[in-house]
Amino acid sequence: GFRMGIVGLPNVGKSTLFNALTRTAAAQAANFPFCTIEPNVGDVAVPDARLDQLAAMAKSKQTIPARMTFVDIAGLVKGASKGEGLGNQFLANIREVDAIAHVLRCFEDEDVTHVDGRVDPVADAETIETELIIADMESIEKRLQNIVRKVRGGDKEAVQQERLMKAAMAALEEGKPARSVEVAEDDLKAWRMLQLLTTKPVLYVCNVDEGDAAEGNALSARVAEMAAAQGNSHVVISAQIEEEISQLDAEEAQEFLSELGLEEAGLDRLIKAGYALLGLQTYFTVGPKEARAWTIPEGTLAPQAAGVIHGDFEKGFIRAETIGFADYVAAGSEAAAKEAGKMRAEGKAYEVKDGDVLHFLFNT
Ligand code: GDP
Repeated sequence: GFRMGIVGLPNVGKSTLFNALTRTAAAQAANFPFCTIEPNVGDVAVPDARLDQLAAMAKSKQTIPARMTFVDIAGLVKGASKGEGLGNQFLANIREVDAIAHVLRCFEDEDVTHVDGRVDPVADAETIETELIIADMESIEKRLQNIVRKVRGGDKEAVQQERLMKAAMAALEEGKPARSVEVAEDDLKAWRMLQLLTTKPVLYVCNVDEGDAAEGNALSARVAEMAAAQGNSHVVISAQIEEEISQLDAEEAQEFLSELGLEEAGLDRLIKAGYALLGLQTYFTVGPKEARAWTIPEGTLAPQAAGVIHGDFEKGFIRAETIGFADYVAAGSEAAAKEAGKMRAEGKAYEVKDGDVLHFLFNT
């Protein structure tokens, strides 16, 4: 599954947010109770109203949502890249996630100490990015030394790695993240293998007070501006609201949200933004036994989409009986959609669309 790391300076609200997200009724969907793998790792059900709609129409016995893993990555401080505080553990944890949710303090509260003595989310973002940049520079320096001999010997892979590491280094030395480097298609695989921290996509999470959750505030507006300039995205969330929601059942939570002028819980918005950031989409398998959501990268072809369910589905792929989400809902059932000519037989070259309801046929 996909993993999202929650990072941020101490006292910005990371733990509050993490605990709330992993405890909500929505996160703990029926058949897959929230499971704590480690104290700081939570497996969350991806809320998707479309899945519930399909399950209701097909009278499925079970509804199985997609999952996303959140990792609360212990407080980063200035100097973390030098191994201060929990620095090293922090960096090791970040290497293992697909994307970073960077929580920024966008609330004033004299009772909550800020590590640098002032509330400035843009400066906080820079502090963390600088640590990550330094960590990447150090890891590249080490690895460049380790491959010197191979490069001299003309080892092709080593030569490619060296070239990519030097390109990354040039950006890092200018204070830019490695994700600012343009990488050729042929180099992408080797580039990913470098596992640089500053290549991970970043989603800024502006943690605001309850009253600012609907509209944001001056601090979150500055973060929005910074994110736009960097080509990153941001969401405005109140960790305190999320904490309150986590203690309510689904219906009460909805009422509470509308009182606050919010359409969706923070978890929903965070996951949606995460999907967009990672270029992920969802397809469904629907039947009387279960309705289930599956996560795939945009642009995935039908056989590879089938492979997410089982390797044999990909190997023996024949075709995918496909109904678009809107067609399924308009028809009201699979049989009605089929009758209306809305079920298509798609082959190996079909690019699966977000919301497709699929039924795979395959050789065993
Ligand atoms: P972490 O160190 O980043 O994990 O931060 P915590 O989640 O432990 O939060 C630090 C403190 O800030 C706690 O006392 C929280 O209750 C408080 N806090 C979190 N979010 C908010 C918020 O939106 N407004 C206010 N006033 N306090 C908050």
